[in-house]
Amino acid sequence: MTTTQPPHRIVGLLKVVCGPMFSGKTELLLSLLRRAELARKKVLLIKNHVDTRNTEDFVVGHDGTKRTALLVKNNSGDFMEIIDAAQKVDVVGFDETQFFSKEIIGTIETLVLMGKSVIASGLDLDFRGVPFNSVAMLSSMADEIVKLSSVCMICGEEARFSQRIIDGKPANFHDPIILVGAEECYEPRCRSCFASRGPIMDGIIEKQI
Ligand code: ZN
Repeated sequence: MTTTQPPHRIVGLLKVVCGPMFSGKTELLLSLLRRAELARKKVLLIKNHVDTRNTEDFVVGHDGTKRTALLVKNNSGDFMEIIDAAQKVDVVGFDETQFFSKEIIGTIETLVLMGKSVIASGLDLDFRGVPFNSVAMLSSMADEIVKLSSVCMICGEEARFSQRIIDGKPANFHDPIILVGAEECYEPRCRSCFASRGPIMDGIIEKQI
């Protein structure tokens, strides 16, 4: 008896690069894209327009490396533009993935099924220590996750949290999650020095489900 093998479909893969602020996520993304080009792959970098700190169509790493990016907004037309632009490339990188609306999850899944290698870089936790939905979902779907850490600004241990500071004090739990361009700063902190308000995930998870 002969068995018929199902036709082999060419699919890509998804790699997620996540971690707190100042952990080198963008630098690693840019480095992986450079390596892909050395391997003669065509690459495309996508950046979200929400990040108004930098509305130019390029991404700059803290180490000064720079790459032109396709600037998109969170609407279905722009997500279709990503699919169109990706037709001509092998590798698609997303910078600051947490700024994209949840539709980015389906868009990235489509890219992987089209055979593209996708590298999505972004913050995994917001300033409250709560997972960003899109990055959390993509991490679960990923073939590979690179979770980076930074250095705690208080004690020097490994930092996985981004402490938001307004007027020199830890931000209030109920402040809006994204407040780009406001007078505030962030610093990496370890779990012990992170000024959270005790276990909070029960209530958050209930709301999300
Ligand atoms: Zn610490």
